Amino acid sequence: MTGIVYKSTGSWYWVKSENNTFHKCRIQGKFRIKGIKSTNPIAVGDKVSFFLEKIGDEEIGIIKNIHDRQNFIARKSVNLSKQTQIIAANIDVVFLLITIDNPPTFTTFIDRFLVTTRAYRIDTVLVFNKMDAYEIEQKAEVLYLKDIYEAIGYQCIEVSATQGKNIDVLKDMMLQKTSMFVGHSGVGKSTLVNAIEPTLNLKTKQISEQHKQGQHTTTFAEMFDLSFDARIIDTPGIKGFGIVDIDKYELNDYFPEFFELKQHCKFNNCLHLKEPNCAVKEALEEDKISWSRYKSYLQIFNGEEDGEHYRTDNW
Ligand code: GDP
Ligand code: ZN
Repeated sequence: MTGIVYKSTGSWYWVKSENNTFHKCRIQGKFRIKGIKSTNPIAVGDKVSFFLEKIGDEEIGIIKNIHDRQNFIARKSVNLSKQTQIIAANIDVVFLLITIDNPPTFTTFIDRFLVTTRAYRIDTVLVFNKMDAYEIEQKAEVLYLKDIYEAIGYQCIEVSATQGKNIDVLKDMMLQKTSMFVGHSGVGKSTLVNAIEPTLNLKTKQISEQHKQGQHTTTFAEMFDLSFDARIIDTPGIKGFGIVDIDKYELNDYFPEFFELKQHCKFNNCLHLKEPNCAVKEALEEDKISWSRYKSYLQIFNGEEDGEHYRTDNW
């Protein structure tokens, strides 16, 4: 049988089979996934093959293998410093919630996030929330940001979680997909998810409050089926999803607006810093690409501690 992991406690997995029944499963023996050292071999969202076995009165599933992942997100394990914890796998789309005020979302945060999701190969949609609360200047700011990000291929949507604006459009974008909602605390993630699916009372808020007080809660991601043929992954207490070590010399691969341009730089290994005849710098001077994105690039490039890698771990 094959199924999808909806929940995990570390030793048990709740797997929904193709005929829509849930099975409590464990892993057969030990198995590792090539190339990844992780504390948990299987994560929410993983597709697995399993068989049923009767143990006493209980019928449990034994997972015998895991299917190739389309993508995954991970973080450094709290317990074992060197290892990685896979938070979730096979995510179709991440919705990044952005608010202009209360709280402000800065472009550096957005750009770091987009570098990370691009490295993870996860589609990202920018969701501008709290549109009902904005004055003319803040609305102009939204338009300005939308211009920047739409120009480089990111889908943007304006919503109001409290007023129900564009919730249907968002639901359409979620159809037949597995989604995640992320963003700073206070941008309206819980409110928005409740607007999408009122019966789904996600505990995001409660747990993130605990997190603020510095407690280390061992929380696991969990997947939920929605009423309209969509799935959502809730990741309580998980703020960033970094861990990808990006070589700073490869960083410019994650800025899509540099792609075309960098073939015209004088040096084929141009980093677009102080090199002569740099097509990226020329495009900037002509306002063909965004200065705020370029500043983020510099910040990420220089925000370097050990001189080798940039880690998009904490934001
Ligand atoms: P979370 O921390 O991202 O889960 O944010 P919450 O959903 O808890 O929302 C934080 C605050 O923003 C709450 O007071 C919400 O009522 C408010 N909020 C959320 N969405 C909107 C919106 O679309 N418009 C306005 N005006 N307030 C909102
Ligand atoms: Zn260049």
